[in-house]
Amino acid sequence: IWKELQESYRKEMNPVSYNTWIEPAKPISFYDNQLIIEVPTTVQKNYWEKNLAGKILETFFMMSGEEILPTFVTPDEAESYKQTETKKEESTTKTPEHRTMLNSKYTFDTFVIGKGNQMAHAAALVVAEDPGSIYNPLFFYGGVGLGKTHLTQAIGHQMLVTHPNAKIKYVSSENFTNDFINSIQKNKMEEFRNEYRTVDLLLVDDIQFLVNKEGTQEEFFNTFEELYRNNKQIVLTSDRLPNEIPTLPQRLVSRFAWGLSVDITPPDLETRTAILRKKAEAENLEIPDDTLSYIAGQIDSNIRELEGALVRVQAYAAIQSSDITTSLAAEALKALKVGTNLSQLTVEQIQEEVSDYYHLHVSDLKGKKRTKGIVVPRQIAMYLCRELTDYSLPKVGAEFGGKDHTTVIHAYEKIHQLIKEDQTIQNEVTEIKNHLME
Ligand code: ADP
Ligand code: MG
Repeated sequence: IWKELQESYRKEMNPVSYNTWIEPAKPISFYDNQLIIEVPTTVQKNYWEKNLAGKILETFFMMSGEEILPTFVTPDEAESYKQTETKKEESTTKTPEHRTMLNSKYTFDTFVIGKGNQMAHAAALVVAEDPGSIYNPLFFYGGVGLGKTHLTQAIGHQMLVTHPNAKIKYVSSENFTNDFINSIQKNKMEEFRNEYRTVDLLLVDDIQFLVNKEGTQEEFFNTFEELYRNNKQIVLTSDRLPNEIPTLPQRLVSRFAWGLSVDITPPDLETRTAILRKKAEAENLEIPDDTLSYIAGQIDSNIRELEGALVRVQAYAAIQSSDITTSLAAEALKALKVGTNLSQLTVEQIQEEVSDYYHLHVSDLKGKKRTKGIVVPRQIAMYLCRELTDYSLPKVGAEFGGKDHTTVIHAYEKIHQLIKEDQTIQNEVTEIKNHLME
């Protein structure tokens, strides 16, 4: 546009004036309708302001339909404009999201409130408004794909609105562990502590994966203490209650009890439908209400899968280039049916299947006999309960004649390992799984 502008002036003005006034001027920045033009001297600046500002505004408007605000600066002044310009760039590349690793989709705006999450949502709002004061730490627990990460990050986003200068950090417990171990190896503990212990809000996701490599838990404990002592807000998530996380040391468990623990339970049909509707709206999809609730009826325990189902239906419709209807959705989701049966499996069914498979009695699995022919099937049954049902560890243990949850974990880990090492076991487990899913 500037070139065009020069051209039009060249035609209008005599060459001397053009060369004196127009030629040396150059636009250096355009931001928010403010056009900054650099001219070589103060004299020229005055001339432009007096004689050309109105004209340039007019020409610009004619060419682009936009009203601009021209500002003329000398080279000295231009320096500072260029600096603010680069500062602007820096601040846009370093948005808060970038610094805090928050996903911009996970806000309160996009979160649908329903029965299973309304307590958690309310607590999250309180914490975002008034961090560090009431519910500290705030602990969310619940199954996979129920919105723990979403809600946790929403707190981060909201806090940036209410407290724009707050320092916020979001990490998964795995990232925390890796970060910590890297810092040790690179001799950068000071930086690590600087990073984690100076935040106003620390969000640690999936705390059940916090393992004690090289003293990670010790470091986490100390980070926690330091932040807590300074009334900094801490938000944690896990798939179960702190005292059900076998790898979590007691002193951390008791710290977490100082705050508020809220569970998130699977959404009811109405909430699932509302979530789908919101998603469909966000993506401008035309889907009738009965189709939305049909899809919501197909997947009942995991919102990520629910979203996946919507994508699937959408893709299916695109391939067939037809509208999204209930029958089309049914067609598209046929293959997912197997998956939905999974969550309805009970410990009893698994025990029966496993004992049939190995020609044992269910009572053998529940008993205490330690012969090899029984121990491995028992462990496989426990493994499958962990894999295929939503039962908590203690509950699974209880169903196996009152064993405690550490036995279940041991069994799980043992079979997990065996499957990798032993082809026969692997085949057996796969076969039992297939029977269960028929
Ligand atoms: P979790 O961390 O509990 O495994 P996520 O927070 O990752 O679950 O949620 C899984 C997906 O479901 C995400 O895409 C998230 O945006 C979506 N989701 C979960 N709960 C809700 C909700 N109440 N409203 C809208 N979307 C949700
Ligand atoms: Mg998560």
